[in-house]
Amino acid sequence: MGSEVIDYYEILQCDKNATLEELKRSYQRLALTCHPDKKISSENNENFHIIQKAWSVLRDPQSRKEYDALLSCEEHRELLLYDSISVPDLNYDSCNSIYSYQCRCGGLYSVTSSELVPPKIYVECNECSLSIQIDVPS
Ligand SMILES: [Zn+2]
Repeated sequence: MGSEVIDYYEILQCDKNATLEELKRSYQRLALTCHPDKKISSENNENFHIIQKAWSVLRDPQSRKEYDALLSCEEHRELLLYDSISVPDLNYDSCNSIYSYQCRCGGLYSVTSSELVPPKIYVECNECSLSIQIDVPS
């Protein structure tokens, strides 16, 4: 699982359908206001670098295309998967007939046996925004 993708369009305050010319204008405007020579602050410096980075990716049609693909993939990944497991990895609580799995946040993924429908299910953590995928044999 990769780290979160930075939205370079947002950085450049542009629409995803923006033309190269629009991106360039926006970049130049932002670069001017954030230029480290203007105001010496580490925050400005950081902003300036990320604007540079955004522009260097989006100015090139090929790298923009690759980046767009990456971004749309990221947007369509509905779930933040913590783990992918199978039924035997679950802890079974026979008193309550509940299967559970511990999340890294300390929370719990819990599912009843009737919810274990093949071929796989997704369960959300009760504490955080992560989910697990459980492979269920048919
Ligand atoms: Zn969690």
